[in-house]
Amino acid sequence: MAKRIQKHLFFGVTLGFGLGITYYSLVKRVKKTSTFEPTPAAQQRQNTIIHDLEKESREIQDNLAKIGVTAEKIAAYKKNYYQQYIESDQSATPNNVAKPIQDFVHGILKDHGINPHEITLVKWTDPSPAAATLKRIFINEKTFSELSESARRFVIGHEVQHILHEDNLTIFLINNILETDIEKLAENTNNHNHPYCLYSRFIEKRADMKAALKNELYAQGYVDFLQERIKKYGDTPTGTHPLRAERLKVAQTILEQHKNLPMA
Ligand SMILES: [Zn+2]
Repeated sequence: MAKRIQKHLFFGVTLGFGLGITYYSLVKRVKKTSTFEPTPAAQQRQNTIIHDLEKESREIQDNLAKIGVTAEKIAAYKKNYYQQYIESDQSATPNNVAKPIQDFVHGILKDHGINPHEITLVKWTDPSPAAATLKRIFINEKTFSELSESARRFVIGHEVQHILHEDNLTIFLINNILETDIEKLAENTNNHNHPYCLYSRFIEKRADMKAALKNELYAQGYVDFLQERIKKYGDTPTGTHPLRAERLKVAQTILEQHKNLPMA
């Protein structure tokens, strides 16, 4: 079981790489007039986005149930294997990330009501700037530091959503219920519409959108992150993430809604 955690630890929970287009005039203008309290109309539209996400989540769950991964089964496996997962997730991983990055991440954890002592920060060398399990956030200090402060805020906000939704734990449980190599399964493009693949794409979308819905600063960070990635890497699909240009459209829509600008 511990071995399986290691193997699937990062699958589906790493931020993808990057893309380019610039919207700096828009970005600057929005920043100057920023307020972090959405107007009632903006709040209403955000509630619609959340409602749609919840609806999609139920559809994803129904699909998983068709292959035997029911909510009841996940709950039963969680009861049996949670402790084992946690022990493995907390094992021998020193908090060795540079102090300024630690402080930055701790600020974002607190912003989401998470006690920083609950989460261990760990350096890693995977090119993705960050990834999260339930109790750890992994950071590539080099690629993370190359991002603007705004983009870094979004990146950690995205990982925090994986923590809040227990995504890595759920992947671990699904993996054990299916008793199949889900990593291989997801890599095979023939399996694109397999319920597990739909699920793994959905949790990335949810982490993106819920991070951006937090407030205007995070939404701005989402736009900035995507623009910086596009600029640096162009737009190619990365793992479980959709195209960056598509993500950018979503990011800009959410940002506009925080600002109560007309819908795109
Ligand atoms: Zn992710």
